[in-house]
Amino acid sequence: MQISSPCGNFYGAVPAGHAPSVAGKEPAVSPHLEGASAGGLCTPGAGGGLPEAAERSDARRGNPVSEARGRAPLQRGRIAKRQGHVVRPGDQEKTVQEKVLVTDIQRFSVNDGPGFRTNVYLKGCPMRCAWCHNPETLAPYPEIYWKKRLCVQCGKCLDVCRRNAVEPPIPPEAAQSEESNYHKIIRSRCDRCMLCVEACLYDALQIVGKPMSAEEILEEVWQDKPFYDNSGGGMTLSGGEPAAHPEFTQRLLRQAKGMGLHTCLDTNGFCEWGIFREIVRHADIVLYDLKHLDPEFHRLKTGVSNEIILKNLTLLSETGKEIWVRIPVIPDFNDSLDVHTGAAEFLAGLPGRIARVDLLPFHNWCQDKYGWLGVDWHLREIEAFDPIFLEIPAEIYREKGLPVTIGGSGFEKAEAAVG
Ligand code: SF4
Ligand code: SF4
Repeated sequence: MQISSPCGNFYGAVPAGHAPSVAGKEPAVSPHLEGASAGGLCTPGAGGGLPEAAERSDARRGNPVSEARGRAPLQRGRIAKRQGHVVRPGDQEKTVQEKVLVTDIQRFSVNDGPGFRTNVYLKGCPMRCAWCHNPETLAPYPEIYWKKRLCVQCGKCLDVCRRNAVEPPIPPEAAQSEESNYHKIIRSRCDRCMLCVEACLYDALQIVGKPMSAEEILEEVWQDKPFYDNSGGGMTLSGGEPAAHPEFTQRLLRQAKGMGLHTCLDTNGFCEWGIFREIVRHADIVLYDLKHLDPEFHRLKTGVSNEIILKNLTLLSETGKEIWVRIPVIPDFNDSLDVHTGAAEFLAGLPGRIARVDLLPFHNWCQDKYGWLGVDWHLREIEAFDPIFLEIPAEIYREKGLPVTIGGSGFEKAEAAVG
């Protein structure tokens, strides 16, 4: 059953050819986004930790902010395990990344947990959702934005590139026109030496992904403590996928809790349970993404099956942890009543209670970021959902006794059906 509307779905019309269908077995994800780490379960190193990852002593922690200012150099001990090695519960040897790549620390967010939040976006994700709103967080390595509006075509980047990975200048007005398909960087040739970024005097080339330690992150987050105290807010760890850096994420959340910060973990749940359980221990609320209950459809649009994700959600609900399930509602993927009826039944049938369900309407506001990365995003022409259309599926969740919001505002009280 689909909700009746002029186009058969509840969100509105989708331009022909812009929404891959299951029946047609079209690519699940934009071709450029495939590869890097898609398909790998979150394990230590899966998020592409920095090479200098090393163990550090974490004994006698105090306030991480003051620690960061006055501490002796980090102890370097055993080298981090190789990528892909799964730490098993009971392992004596622990490895912790000293720094991870952060794409942004966003202050005063109101849609990612209660109150005012500071969102910390870690770089690296094992999934490749076709609609991803944060494409700069997917790859586990630094990338380059080229902002054509700032580029004056001076050619300095061409001069310094040793890999023949920069296109020769063309007239600025031609490069900046809407129809132009000119891209400054030939990504397939680029080895990310960043010499061109250094050479650019106009800020048209920018590095995405700044290595930061837990202490450096917390020092920034701490600046808004008064706003958290007044609003019930705190830090939300997001990405990318924080669980792709399990030891780092666990340590960051633990230190944040030690400072008295409220913590949310925004996760896709694609992680070995033994590791995931340890990470969520230090999160006050888990914002858990749920995309689709059908494993094949899920794989088609995200690059991975949902079996581990559903299993982890079930196990997590048994722990009594506060869970906010977040469902991005995507045209021609999970926008039918059948999908939401199934999801509502699944969530209502979990062993533990789900605190609320947030329905998040698709939007294409991220299309500039795709452009800056040199990516031709195939969903860019699809219009943003009018949230009003999500009232219909929201009712399905309410009828199952699940409190629901549309948009996920942390200041909004989620409501279930009365009576
Ligand atoms: S150096 Fe900067 S401004 Fe000059 S052509 Fe390269 S990207 Fe454009
Ligand atoms: S990062 Fe290095 S290899 Fe890549 S385009 Fe710039 S100068 Fe060339």
